Amino acid sequence: MAAESEIAKLVEEILAGVKTAGSNELDSWRHPERDIRDLARRDYAPSLRRRLKQTDLENVVRSAQVIFPDLNRAHDPMRVERWLNGPASSGLEGLFSDLTNRLDVHFQRSPFTGPEGLALRGFFVDRGAESLNRPLIYVNTAHHPVSVAATLFHEVGHLVAAEVFERREPSVHLFFDADYSSHLDDVEELCADIVLSLVAYPAPIARTIFATPWKFDLLAKTSELSDRVFAQVSEHFRARFGVSLAQANLSARRKLNYLAGMIHFAKLRSTLLAEYGV
Ligand SMILES: [Zn+2]
Repeated sequence: MAAESEIAKLVEEILAGVKTAGSNELDSWRHPERDIRDLARRDYAPSLRRRLKQTDLENVVRSAQVIFPDLNRAHDPMRVERWLNGPASSGLEGLFSDLTNRLDVHFQRSPFTGPEGLALRGFFVDRGAESLNRPLIYVNTAHHPVSVAATLFHEVGHLVAAEVFERREPSVHLFFDADYSSHLDDVEELCADIVLSLVAYPAPIARTIFATPWKFDLLAKTSELSDRVFAQVSEHFRARFGVSLAQANLSARRKLNYLAGMIHFAKLRSTLLAEYGV
């Protein structure tokens, strides 16, 4: 299978199956406060340590840097700011074409709405699954542009996971909103989120936000995201990506779902710094 029309058909089939495929995840999306509570309480360090050795993480970073050479080095390795804050025409389309030109993947996007459509952020299908000769990345463009960009980086992170970790059965990985605690229990989802977290918080920024010397030891042990750190995370989103959850014209549920993501990626990134020095 290779023709784009067949790929589009496959995407439609997967989207049509989302409602039954992800009933637990849809439930999480309807009740984002549950995930938020769980994420806020959870100590990320043991979860990460259980699944990733230091060398695993180093391999993830190295492999991701083959795709994004400046990942975790430059302040804005993917020029995300420029795309998101540039003229509408260069916005997300610029990001899509820059990435997909360099990757050997099938790439599809569409606004997937409907009653539960917004629960889905995107999906990744391994090469080999559904008799694909190249991996397939789909992103739901009905979301806020910053979320769409984030979804794309998460899905690209699955390419990295496929490279670094032993292949299991090739399968479809659906990405639902406010289902982040489950990502901590699955090495491939965790890897995909790590790639996104390194794009969102490159090391120079992560050190500024997460590692004040007097907090560093504490951060490595605790699960808390302090008010000070959360204020800086919010400011980071406002200044660099032009988004503020307080002001965004979004439904309350969508804000809560995005808030879950903000908490998750901030805690994930701070744990990478504190536990692995990355
Ligand atoms: Zn995923």
